[in-house]
Amino acid sequence: MIEQTLFIIKPDAYKEKLVGKIVTKIEESGFKIIKMTLKKLTRKEAENLYYVHRDRDFFEPLVLFILEAPIIALILERENAIEHLRGVIGKTNPKESEPGTIRALYGTNKSRNAVHASDSKESFIREVSVLFPSYSIT
Ligand code: ADP
Repeated sequence: MIEQTLFIIKPDAYKEKLVGKIVTKIEESGFKIIKMTLKKLTRKEAENLYYVHRDRDFFEPLVLFILEAPIIALILERENAIEHLRGVIGKTNPKESEPGTIRALYGTNKSRNAVHASDSKESFIREVSVLFPSYSIT
């Protein structure tokens, strides 16, 4: 089934000038770019993006991290996009990620891990509403 997912290049990777390499890896992994924007989030947008983690002790550091610099947000499309992209990015902790995954290649630790990908259709819908509020999901 062709589906869409949401992908974010986080501030650590942006600051390290890894955007081009990461987008190349995404395209080589069979994804079509549907939308792409560079955006400095507001505090409110950052809190909305990570709403599900609001009660976790890493919530505040996570919000501050995502506000450090602009992010690049993309809507991507391919067969089985959500599950496939999770495989391409690797685990939350880059040190536990398969070699060759984006987080293994470019992440530093489990908070500064270079990229984000929706983990479910529900997350995709919520994340799109924060990052591409005028986009209507078909
Ligand atoms: P993923 O991004 O792999 O879906 P989560 O949804 O669990 O992982 O967490 C969202 C983000 O919060 C992570 O990508 C990471 O930046 C941060 N994070 C998660 N767990 C921790 C933790 N234990 N300590 C610090 N930051 C964390």
